[in-house]
Amino acid sequence: MWSVLLIIVVLIALVLFVKSLRIKLISAPAFKFIKKALPPLSQTEREAMEAGDIWWEGELFRGKPNWSTLHGYHAGQLTEEEQSFVDVQVNHVLSLIDDYDITVNRKDLPPEIWAYLKKEGFFSLIIPKQYGGREFSAYANSTIVSKIASRSISTAVTVMVPNSLGPGELLSHYGTQEQKDKWLPALAKGEEIPCFALTGPEAGSDAGAIPDLGIVCRQEFEGEEVLGISLTWNKRYITLAPVATVLGLAFQLRDPEGLLGDREYLGITCALIPGNHPGVNLGNRHNPLGMAFMNGTTTGKDVFIPMDWIIGGADYAGRGWRMLVECLSAGRGISLPALATATGHMATRTTTAYGFIRKQFGLSISQFEGVQEALARIVANTYQLEAARKLTTTGIDMKVKPSVVTAIAKYHMTELGREVINDAMDIQSGKGIQLGPKNYLASAYIANPISITVEGANILTRSLMIFGQGATRCHPYVLAEMEAAAHEDEKVGLSRFDGLLVSHMAYAFYNAFTSFTSALTGSRFNDSPIAGEVAGYYKDLQRLSSALSFMTDLSMLTLGGDLKRKEMLSARLGDALSELYLASATLKLFADNGHQHDELPIVHFTMQTRLHRCAKALQGAQDNFPATAMRWLMKLVVFPLGNRFKLPSDQLAIDVCKTVSRPGGVRERITHLCPILQDDQSGIAEVEHAYLAAWDCQKLEAKIKQAIKAGKIAAKLPIAIRIGQALKQEIITKEEADALLHADKLRSEAIQVNEFTAL
Ligand SMILES: Cc1cc2nc3c(=O)[nH]c(=O)nc-3n(C[C@H](O)[C@H](O)[C@H](O)COP(=O)(O)OP(=O)(O)OC[C@H]3O[C@@H](n4cnc5c(N)ncnc54)[C@H](O)[C@@H]3O)c2cc1C
Repeated sequence: MWSVLLIIVVLIALVLFVKSLRIKLISAPAFKFIKKALPPLSQTEREAMEAGDIWWEGELFRGKPNWSTLHGYHAGQLTEEEQSFVDVQVNHVLSLIDDYDITVNRKDLPPEIWAYLKKEGFFSLIIPKQYGGREFSAYANSTIVSKIASRSISTAVTVMVPNSLGPGELLSHYGTQEQKDKWLPALAKGEEIPCFALTGPEAGSDAGAIPDLGIVCRQEFEGEEVLGISLTWNKRYITLAPVATVLGLAFQLRDPEGLLGDREYLGITCALIPGNHPGVNLGNRHNPLGMAFMNGTTTGKDVFIPMDWIIGGADYAGRGWRMLVECLSAGRGISLPALATATGHMATRTTTAYGFIRKQFGLSISQFEGVQEALARIVANTYQLEAARKLTTTGIDMKVKPSVVTAIAKYHMTELGREVINDAMDIQSGKGIQLGPKNYLASAYIANPISITVEGANILTRSLMIFGQGATRCHPYVLAEMEAAAHEDEKVGLSRFDGLLVSHMAYAFYNAFTSFTSALTGSRFNDSPIAGEVAGYYKDLQRLSSALSFMTDLSMLTLGGDLKRKEMLSARLGDALSELYLASATLKLFADNGHQHDELPIVHFTMQTRLHRCAKALQGAQDNFPATAMRWLMKLVVFPLGNRFKLPSDQLAIDVCKTVSRPGGVRERITHLCPILQDDQSGIAEVEHAYLAAWDCQKLEAKIKQAIKAGKIAAKLPIAIRIGQALKQEIITKEEADALLHADKLRSEAIQVNEFTAL
């Protein structure tokens, strides 16, 4: 028996370590398989694949996250100038906002908000200082948009669009000096309002397939015959288009007469066209779920533009797709995640407050376990949102273009925003449903599907982009192996491929080994940068990271190019990567906040949720894996003892609610993007003030309750009468009675909803 085993081991070693044998028996067949299995990449796919950088997600993907790298990234912080802008200008905008008036009455921002936004450079957050812009960090940009979104989604979208993908961003990166000098100062001052038009009726998610066409030709322009482009386009869903004075336009460029060279089809191209240029139609509005931000169409037929209106000049003809993918990846990690985080901060502040002041069955509703279950999710998801916001903007501020991370942020944060606002609506019930100036929840609830749809609709982002890009981009060997397989000289290709394959096999074996042994030992021997209560999470993350890497290798080996068509499988593996990213962001936020003890229940709840979801995603991928032998191998290596990752316990949910029930401390920290201003008349301030007053009166309330129990005061009397009786019997002082009456007045006002004589 032992001698048979020994012979097998020796044979395997021979095949692996004797190069000629290995090439013949392993590398050459694998080389052939890869050549056949992987379809040639289209230009669009290649550009999407190559655009952007790999960052922290690469470590999570490869099975060996280096925790000191994660904790070495700076924690998002504002400069003095950014902090002052957030405290002064942003707070001033908040004080001007009446979201009900904006969305229902005006269907637009009031002129004074438009003027203030332009004057103070809200549209120039990403424009370099040398052109008069603010040149703020991604973190500051996100903080500004979030704070505004906590009060008004319509205002936040108006601010965020010029600071996301659009002419400002494209010009800063790719514009010619002349274009920068012409447009950037005017955009910075708000004299020009930009929009960017890619989407049209025929091309939404498949934006690379836009039919809008530009033909290179010569025509008269300003009295001279010049080389230029005759353009025809039909675009829809374009934010700010109805008020834009400058239009960024993406179109397919053709050169049938060979005026630029010998290529007839040049590819997607981006140009900047003044809104008043003859033939440009702007102005019609859509009505995106009743929100008041400007969104509409633009069309043009046979509109001639000179060549130097191409962003970057004639040299950039046909290079628009790559420009868009690179710029979109940064904006995608900032704007919509900022809206989702704002929803979390606003929902946490108002639901903890409302849950305390709203009483039913004689108790604050936040004392009922059913409510606590949903409230704990709101709080944990909000912590998660803030953690992901900070980590993602840190990556963008490091000047990497982390395209996988920003796709994760866009998809998962908008989905977390959806979970949060649904829970908040459930808890605040009628108060959340009845529209009016007092309603602070409804806009975020109604607008949520907008965030889900824009900048890459979520189903597509989940099913196609996260794992699709991540698997090849983050993998240490696959892209290089694909390139070796595509090498024109087959011999050179095979030799390179063989070297890569050896490293690849060692990598796959290491991941399988780590995953399997971690599962058997409960991750006990994995790395953690710290000891204590959260150490186990680092260790479990390493385990699941190895498991994901191992399963990715098996999936690629089994399915090859078909993997991208197996969208459900790809989505599940992408979910696992995303959960690892979100979980690591949570651990980083906890560390950056100084391991505050009062955050621990929230961190436990969040981490257990993430690990559970990650393991569930891997398990789902295994259960649905199309090849039986591989399915069982995956199950054996990843979950030899079954999937033991559990959702947080009921007790933990109760503990989370306790930590945020009191004013200040952790509650204030996780709601800082939804501030209460001085003389704040908003519905948010109303419910907050009622909560603070009620909180301060708890001891007095207890005195009255005791008196009722002792039969000194009759039960079931209106509150004011009870207080009067308590005063009369000297159970409370006059001052205490006044405090109780004041708190009750605030409570009573805060639980009201608006009523109208006619609508
Ligand atoms: C309010 C608003 C503002 C916008 N602002 C702008 C703007 O300023 N500029 C601009 O150019 N565009 C803008 N857009 C367009 C936006 O960014 C989306 O790209 C676009 O809405 C997606 O197209 P669609 O809605 O027609 O969905 P479709 O492309 O028709 O997709 C429908 C569904 O199919 C799914 N799907 C499609 N393909 C796949 C696939 N291969 N695998 C899995 N699922 C798939 C999608 O995820 C989606 O769920 C805006 C859109 C909205 C609604």
